Order: sequence, then structure tokens, then C-alpha cells
Amino acid sequence: MASPLAPEADWVRVRVSGKVNLALRVGAVRPNGYHPLATVFQSVSLFDEVGVRWAEPGRFTVSVVGEQAGLVPADGRNLAVKAAKLLAQQYGPHRFGADLVIRKTIPVAGGMAGGSANAAGALLACSVLWDLDTPPDELRSFGARLGADVPFQLMGGTALGTGRGDELVPVLSRGTYHWVLALSDDELSTPAVFGRFDELNPDAPADLPMPTDVMNALVAGDAAALGAALVNDLAPAAASLRPELSRILDAGRDLGALGAIVSGAGPTCAFLAANEAAAVDLSVQLSSEGLCRAVRRVTGPVPGARLITT
Ligand code: ATP
Repeated sequence: MASPLAPEADWVRVRVSGKVNLALRVGAVRPNGYHPLATVFQSVSLFDEVGVRWAEPGRFTVSVVGEQAGLVPADGRNLAVKAAKLLAQQYGPHRFGADLVIRKTIPVAGGMAGGSANAAGALLACSVLWDLDTPPDELRSFGARLGADVPFQLMGGTALGTGRGDELVPVLSRGTYHWVLALSDDELSTPAVFGRFDELNPDAPADLPMPTDVMNALVAGDAAALGAALVNDLAPAAASLRPELSRILDAGRDLGALGAIVSGAGPTCAFLAANEAAAVDLSVQLSSEGLCRAVRRVTGPVPGARLITT
């Protein structure tokens, strides 16, 4: 990462990806405030970079560059800083400090777990910087303390998440899927969407159906079946807070997408295309409709947090 702060060689850099939920089943809120989830995550090729370098013990700073950088807290509220501090706390509170730089491309508060991805990146990068050799399962358990999506953002690929979405099992997925993302002008607060979900679903089930249609389509590498099986229980809540989401989803379907879904708690919408050429056509046409801030073509699955070695 080109940094205004120091020579390149001082930095450990990690690449992290955004995610789309191919299935997101949500149950009734538990007394502890969490909603049980049964979700299938897929990492997609929209990447942030997290760079870290040594700082004096106890000092943690962050600067954020790139799209929407101004929407991200550049202080101790930043999830990547929380991640670095958590790791330092575990291994020696008085030994470690770090300067962090985050290059953002994943939409902020867009339902693609960008903050969780940055936390995952900071955990891996600091573990390498400080020479801790933290085993992957330990990094994942630190990640779960920072947020339910952090363990998946460390792992990447395609996975079934249960519990709060942090109990992960890899899912077999054949082939590459071509997605078109419609990015929104506005952020959408995940807690607000869950709150509306509770209002709309007073009888939400305690036990959730497993998203078997989605998993079968992934095993078969069948994009058409996957498009038909995409499901998000949060979509009605997100659309009731942002009615334009229904118009964007309809537009993508009318333009020939195999499937259309709100990503996580939104407002990013994801459209599945049959192949790369269809994704190019869809993205051009969707852009010209002028319904969203920007359109991006991505593929999945891709890896989760990975060191950048060049
Ligand atoms: P989630 O569904 O996990 O809440 P999201 O993908 O919809 O998240 P994020 O981009 O993770 O959204 O941002 C959620 C909020 O977290 C933002 O409003 C932002 O202020 C805050 N935040 C803290 N740290 C970060 C970070 N490193 N990157 C992005 N947002 C961050």
C-alpha cells in the first residue's frame, strides 16, 4: 500500500474481501439480543487493504483512504483498531503498538461486512507484524469477539454460518459466479434493519431451515439454480426502510439477472449473471438506469484475509 507515512518496506499488508449472503435466514430475537442466523456467505472480489507498521507500545493510530473514507471512524472506534488492540491485549499489553492504514473499496455500511473485513485484516496483519504466529482458529475466536462476520472474513470462500453467523463450516462450491453489485448512495444501519425485521416478523421461528437449495446449487455449480434459490429474510425490512431497493431489484430481474438479492442488511443489491459477458451487459444497462450510486462487477468465491507479499 502506498502510504504517506513511511517507506513501503515497514508495512505488513493484508487484502480482505467483501461478502454477499446467498441465503440469510433469520430467527426470532433471543433474550441476549442476538438473532439466530442460518446463512451462506460468499466472498466476492471487492477488496480493501489493511496495512500495519510498528508503533511505540500502547499507541494505535489509523488513517483511511479511498472511496467513502470519510464515513469511517479514524480513531479507536474503528473496528480494525479494536482488532489490533485486542490482539495486543492477548499477547502483551505493554509490548505492542501499531499504525494502521486502510484503503477502502468495500461500501461502508453496505451489507458487505467491510468493517468486519478490516478487523480480520488487522488481526492477520498484526499477528504477522508482531511475529505472534497466532493459529487460524485462535484468530477466528478473537474475531468472533469483535463481530459475528469477522470469522468468515478471515476465512473467505463459501461457508455456512449458524449461531450468530460465526459458527462456520466450509461449503463446497463449484465454478466461479459472476455478480453485478448496485451500490447505494446511502448507508443502512444493520441494527435498524434487524429492528424493522422484529416489527415485521413477530412470529419469526426459533428454529431455522437450513438453506439446502442454495448449497445444492453451489455443489452442482448451477448458476441458474443458485439464482432461483437466493433468499434473504432481511430484504423486506431493508426495503421498507429504503423503498428504492425494490425498484433496483426489479430492474435487475427485468434486465435478465438469474437472481437478485439484497446483500446482508443492505443497501447493496447483488445480481447473479449467467457468465462474464452477461454480467458486462447487465452492469452497463443497470448503470444507465441511474438507480444507484455505482455498479461494480465482481466474482466469487475468492479467499478471505490474505497477506500481500509483493
Ligand atoms: P455490518 O452488517 O457488519 O454492521 P456493514 O457491512 O453493513 O456492516 P460496515 O461497512 O462494516 O457495514 O460499517 C458499519 C459501521 O461500522 C459504519 O457505520 C462505520 O462507521 C463503522 N466502522 C467501524 N470501523 C469500520 C471500518 N474499518 N470500515 C467500515 N466501517 C467501520
